[in-house]
Amino acid sequence: MIENMYDVKDKVAIVTGSSRGIGKQCALAFAEGGAKLVLNYVNNQEAAEITAEEVSALGSEAIIVQADVKDFEACQTLGEQAIKKYGKVDFLVNNAGINRDITFSRMSQEQWSEVVNTNLGALFNMCKAVVPHMRDAGSGVIISISSIIGETGNIGQSNYAATKSGMYGFTKSLARELAKDNIRVNTVSPGFVETDMLHTVPPDLLAGIKDDIPMGRFGYADEIALAVLYLCSTAGSWITGTNLSINGGHNM
Ligand code: NAP
Repeated sequence: MIENMYDVKDKVAIVTGSSRGIGKQCALAFAEGGAKLVLNYVNNQEAAEITAEEVSALGSEAIIVQADVKDFEACQTLGEQAIKKYGKVDFLVNNAGINRDITFSRMSQEQWSEVVNTNLGALFNMCKAVVPHMRDAGSGVIISISSIIGETGNIGQSNYAATKSGMYGFTKSLARELAKDNIRVNTVSPGFVETDMLHTVPPDLLAGIKDDIPMGRFGYADEIALAVLYLCSTAGSWITGTNLSINGGHNM
């Protein structure tokens, strides 16, 4: 019984920003569970192609759609490509994200807008592209990757923190609106995870951060991906409007 609960065989998942990092591991977890993938990237085509090859090696299939999640029309196209190829979208993982860390006093309007439009604007864009299909199908799961920074705030991250906290309100509202359509909506909030993004943090700061994590290490991207798989699968069938924090005890 437990084995079947994590089965996502023949489901279709869109994972934004799945060329690298956490998004890539989400795609591979879905593939291992038997789901078909719509992979997405903005700049790094080669990395997206490698993810697609790894999906194939796991016995599943993927299409790659280049789209900037800041762009409403590009997200519409991303949704249309998924429907054209597979006829449905069961899972949407809003993972693509950026940071432009700088203290508020020095932050430009561009650094504010770029982060807000990428990290939070994308939720509007992607949900607009996908929710109508989920409603027609009578089911769906939407997961947005927030952050421990959305829970705690951080010096130099007022733009990033605003987007990650904003995801909670958006998610709870959508969860309430869409529960009647059997669409579940949740956030996952990772702590500091070993990806390219982590290495935008200066090394001396990183050492201090690691010391503050009770489990004494950064997370691995697959530790986040497995939680996403859990929330999307039958094992998570009564979970909506909530946030799952995964951070090695960093925010108790
Ligand atoms: P990453 O390694 O930097 O990868 C970012 C991914 O997002 C790449 O696939 C990138 O595509 C894609 N992307 C960036 N901007 C995009 C855009 N405008 N449109 C479409 N795709 C875009 O990041 P990560 O660490 O895996 O982070 C993934 C998510 O987890 C983010 O939302 C991040 O905020 C969140 N998170 C990360 C950590 C952490 O410690 N790593 C902690 C908490 C939360 P290209 O390859 O084409 O550039």
